[in-house]
Amino acid sequence: MMHHDTYVKYISDEIGYGVFAAIDFPEGTIIWSLDEKDMIFSKDEFERLPQKLREHISNFSYEVDECIVFNWCISKYMNHCCNPNTRRVDETETKYITIKDIAKDEQITYDYSIYPEIKWRCFCGSANCRGAINK
Ligand SMILES: [Zn+2]
Repeated sequence: MMHHDTYVKYISDEIGYGVFAAIDFPEGTIIWSLDEKDMIFSKDEFERLPQKLREHISNFSYEVDECIVFNWCISKYMNHCCNPNTRRVDETETKYITIKDIAKDEQITYDYSIYPEIKWRCFCGSANCRGAINK
């Protein structure tokens, strides 16, 4: 579940929505953790879902250990950034922490390049933007 002091805001047609800080967060804050409401599908289970549901989930999910993880909360709107302000705590993908101070109303981001299947163009606008999430 995303930290309760966050909110979703529309950014642009190109980017869509993003998650923003409702308060100042110091570095080291746990900003998201997996909980019992998050849905975890095996690849077989995922393939048996109706096509429209698979398409929707694909836009907001990620793969860990051969499973598809779909978060129920607003964390599904967290955007990629080549210069992110959060990262996962470890490979189990159950917690994300802030890796720098985040000011109120700043967008909360992480680096999607940990998911090799994601090969989208990047619009993050950071000084070190790689232009694509994975090439
Ligand atoms: Zn970028």
